Formats: sequence, C-alpha cells, structure tokens
Amino acid sequence: MNFDWERVQEEAVEKLSRYLQADTSNPPGKEMAGARVLQRFLEKEGLATTLLESQPERGNLVCRMKGKDGLAPLILLHHIDVVPVEADQWEHPPYSGAVLDGEIWGRGAQDCKSLGIVELMAFLLLKREGFQPNRDIVYLATADEEAGGKWGVGWLLENHPQFLRAEYVINEGGGVGMIVGPKHIYTCQTAEKGICWLKLTFKGKPGHGSVPHGDNCVVKMAKAIERISAYRSPLRRNRTTERFIKGIAEEQAFPRSWFIRQLLNPLLSQKVEKRIPDPGFRGMAGAILRNTFVPTVVQGGQKTNVIPSECSCQVDCRILPGVTPEEIKEEVHHVLFGLRDYEIEVLQTAPASESPAENPLYRAMEKALKSLDPKAKMIPTMLTGATDSRYFRNRGSVAYGFQPMMPMDKLSEYLSRVHGHNERISVKDLLFGTRVLYQVLKDFCG
Ligand SMILES: [Zn+2]
Repeated sequence: MNFDWERVQEEAVEKLSRYLQADTSNPPGKEMAGARVLQRFLEKEGLATTLLESQPERGNLVCRMKGKDGLAPLILLHHIDVVPVEADQWEHPPYSGAVLDGEIWGRGAQDCKSLGIVELMAFLLLKREGFQPNRDIVYLATADEEAGGKWGVGWLLENHPQFLRAEYVINEGGGVGMIVGPKHIYTCQTAEKGICWLKLTFKGKPGHGSVPHGDNCVVKMAKAIERISAYRSPLRRNRTTERFIKGIAEEQAFPRSWFIRQLLNPLLSQKVEKRIPDPGFRGMAGAILRNTFVPTVVQGGQKTNVIPSECSCQVDCRILPGVTPEEIKEEVHHVLFGLRDYEIEVLQTAPASESPAENPLYRAMEKALKSLDPKAKMIPTMLTGATDSRYFRNRGSVAYGFQPMMPMDKLSEYLSRVHGHNERISVKDLLFGTRVLYQVLKDFCG
C-alpha cells in the first residue's frame, strides 16, 4: 500500500511524545504506565493485547498478529524502562516529550522508546492494510532491561515462556548509519560481549595510622588498580568484529583501507587504534577487539587513623565470545604478577552471545536499507554492553539489534545521548526507522 508518509511521521511523533511522558525510570521502573500507553494505541486499532505484571506496577505487554503458515514467530522487542536522569542538567524537562526543531526530547528517546514506536508503527501499518504474515509477528514490550531484565524478559521466561517462543527477534542495539567514504554503513547488531564481574580482596597487617609499615593492603590495592587500568588485553579475533572491520576498510581508499585492516593485526592493532580520530569509534573498536577490565568500586578502611587489614575493589570485565571466567582470573593473575596477599572472586558472569549474520532476515534488512538509501551497506557489529537479546540467543533464537537511523559523520554525538543528558531523536530518524522496518516485515513475512 502507498502510505502518506508525512502523515505517518506526524503520527509517530505524537505517539513517541506521549510515550516519553510516562516516567518509567528504573529504579523503580513502574513500566505499567508506559505499557498502558502502548496498550491504548494497539487496542484503538482493534488489536487484542495481554498485560502481564511481574511486580506491582512492573508491566510487560504482548500483542500478536497471527501468521497464516504456522512458521515460528518473529518478535519485535523493546524495553519500556529507562535509566534515571539528573533533571537539572537537561535543557528541556526529561519527561516532557517536547517536540522542538525537528527533534523529540525525553529520556528514552534513543534508548529505547523510539524503537518501541518504530516497531509499533510498522506493526500498525501492516494491520491497517490487512497484511497477512506467513508467521506470527509479536509486539513485545518488557520491563527491567536496564537492571538486567529480572522482572522483564527473565520473569517472562520463567512464568510465561509461550510468549517468548520465536525463531527471530528484532531488538535494540544496532541500525545506526555512519558516513564512511562513499557509502552509508549501517550496523546490524549480531553479537554482544559477556560480563565477568570480579572482586579483588587484598589483605595486609592492621595498625595505627600514625606508624607507617610496609604491609598496608590499601597501598597494595592501589598498585593493582594502577596495573589493571594500564593493561591492554591481547587482540582476540572473532567472526563479527572481523566482518565489521573489513566491511569498513573496504570503503576506504588506500592507505586508509590498509590502516584500518591492521586493527586485526596483533602486532599493530593497538597502535592503529590509538590513532582513530573519532573518540566514539576509537573506544568501541578497542572494546570489541579484546576483553576489557575497568576498576569501578573500591571499599576499604573505616577511619583515617586505622590501617585496615582488608580492602577490596571490583572490576567490570567484559568478555568476548568463547572466553571463560577461569581464563579471565588467569589473565588478572598474570597482570598482578609479583603482588601478594590477594584473592579474586567472580561476582557475576554471563557469556557473550552471537547470532549468525547469514539468513533471510539479515538479507531482508539489507535489501530494505538499500531500497530507501542507494548508498547503504550493512555490516554486522558487536555491542560492548548487553541487552535482552542475550536471553533469546541463549535459547536458540536469532536476535538482531536493528533500529535504522540516518547516517551521521561521527558516532560520538549519538553515543553521548544514550543514557546521557538531553536525550533526543530526530523526527527524520523516527520515520526512516519505521519505513525500513515496515519494508523488512513485508518482505520477510510476506
Ligand atoms: Zn536499551
């Protein structure tokens, strides 16, 4: 069907603005407020929804468009909760949903209420034209992603697994366009790093603060933190990152193309990385090529004049596919070689997750992008953090992070808005995402 896309854009803006006005910051979450907004949008079109409350006011919403061929479902996933704000740091109130100069403002405008509206609009357009998909298309909005998903996807898996059965999942974490040479490169997020959170405990001799001695655990810990933060783990090549780096290098002229390819060369990788001009891309490239170790929490001492006998620091370690907690502990011992009287404990761990980048859905995404942007090229990418996609990948579904946004020069600006102050999205990106996704669904489920 030929839609009036200007009208679709207006409607998407109105709906996102309304959705952003529901304060679903987590903690405490209160996703029910956002779920009810979405429920009203869906029910107004005659679609039946199911609202599932995992805890008081923690809402999850499901709406199913029945498929005719009985193929395993495709889920359109996003999370309703958002991270908290420092409201006094914002130029416009974070829960206003203000529309100004072609942008919609509010916490969640990027992460990831806009995806919720992009998916909703594509879903509604299919419904309005009487489209009959070959498989169920399930619109799924969940709670608690920002705190790990315990009361969202985690809870649904345990209590209502029938709603999560899917062969394919489209979720947050990819789709951003970058201008690279003559091409517009769009990412499809096919993999996410895992976590291995560590606690390092240091022991020493207690004593009076007025009498220095050589066995102070705080001093040992300071040395350890210094070494960990200076340490760069060796390059670990993996499928997704290799395709990502090569895909970008291919669009560059020599010698830049050669230079970028050296990110995959164990001898030159770190030197090349340091010379990447865009800080957003530099940080990301470094983190998808190796395991990372970032000291974050330190605890020790009670009183200025008491040398404690014990202190600890926590390290946020992010791991690549195939890396185990045992290998990570080994790596840290290696970094701290020569230091004594410490123990390493693994506080929490989750493996990295990866979906293959070759199947009909991936190809449909690439095709839809190219039909709307002739300069488009899509490459798989790895997220340095984690999303709810990991739950689905671990159960055998193919999950992709895909919310197409128009190409930008620098990643840094986009990255600074996610979880940052003054989060907003352009009206054009909202429409572009909707149009691409609508096309993907028509093609893939038609
Ligand atoms: Zn998110």
